[in-house]
Amino acid sequence: PSHDRVFNFAAGPATLPETVLRKAESELFNWRGSGMSVMEMSHRGKDFTSIIQKAESDLRSLLDIPSDYAVLFLQGGATTQFAAIPLNLCKPDDTVDYVVTGSWSDKAFKEAQKYCKPKVIWSGKSEKYTKIPAFEGLEQSPNAKYMHICANETIHGVEFKNYPNPKSLLVADMSSNFCSKPVDVSKFGIIYAGAQKNVGPSGVTIVIIRKDLIGGAQEITPVMLDYKIHHENSSLYNTPPCYGIYMCGLVFEDLLAQGGLKEVEKKNKKKAEILYEAINQSNGFYRCPVEPSVRSLMNVPFTLEKAELEGEFVKEAAKEKMVQLKGHRSVGGMRASIYNAMPLAGVEKLVAFMKEFQGRHA
Ligand code: PLP
Repeated sequence: PSHDRVFNFAAGPATLPETVLRKAESELFNWRGSGMSVMEMSHRGKDFTSIIQKAESDLRSLLDIPSDYAVLFLQGGATTQFAAIPLNLCKPDDTVDYVVTGSWSDKAFKEAQKYCKPKVIWSGKSEKYTKIPAFEGLEQSPNAKYMHICANETIHGVEFKNYPNPKSLLVADMSSNFCSKPVDVSKFGIIYAGAQKNVGPSGVTIVIIRKDLIGGAQEITPVMLDYKIHHENSSLYNTPPCYGIYMCGLVFEDLLAQGGLKEVEKKNKKKAEILYEAINQSNGFYRCPVEPSVRSLMNVPFTLEKAELEGEFVKEAAKEKMVQLKGHRSVGGMRASIYNAMPLAGVEKLVAFMKEFQGRHA
């Protein structure tokens, strides 16, 4: 690894694999003999067509996406999907169910209120979003069009380990654990994710949608939010985020080269395990508020028993080239995001630093 790079624990935009960045660098001025950068290409030319098609087919291999699902490369972030989903799947009077396990699912619920009649069927707010409900504990609304979940809450660090199996459709925000492990896509109506955590730069939003759910958008749906338009035009209705899609494609190639998502999951489990172990074995010096069985493999929030030392912790870690460890402003403390591209060496270095810091301050 380069000596001038830091270990970046940011929640997103986040660290990318060095091999991917190097490959992009080597192709920056002249993509495969085209004489131009991918940034400069027509999105309708044969070069970019090959890039977006390869990105889609590699993603299909990675996640084993069934042929009755469409893959869309969109813009606007996962936040835009908070509106697009109810606009495409519901009429204004339709009921939908939201499971609120943290800030992101809460935002999705609030946005849906503008376009349909969403109901919060479970909320972890009173327990400070440290839990995930068991499916049996969810009371579904009789005619709900779908059940929305956030598969991994980036801020609170809670992650679904098993997915609900609603009578209606399951719709999941997978922004922060997308491609971090295998997923049975056929269990979902829609999976959506912003790219900027596990699979690329910000600016690309990936939507995987069962094809029969496309085509029922409300009249008022802006053209840019209508899945039918994007599907019919293979994500090229307007100018897509070309360079971002290219970068996602390089990441998908890299994940396949690592042996696919089963292998990637093994690495992610190992990284998370040593970090949670370090917290557990600190005799309370470090604490993770999240219920152990639903702790995220991707985002690890923790606090210091002596909260007054948190600033010092973050500052000293940064001096040792471990950056972006400050927790989200809404929860405080620290947060280490350890997405696919965070090497094991980064987590080992953090754990060693935590032990050393504790030794000095216990
Ligand atoms: N959902 C989750 C789980 C997130 O972590 C984020 C983070 O940014 C969002 C949604 C919002 O995504 P975007 O900024 O791409 O709109």
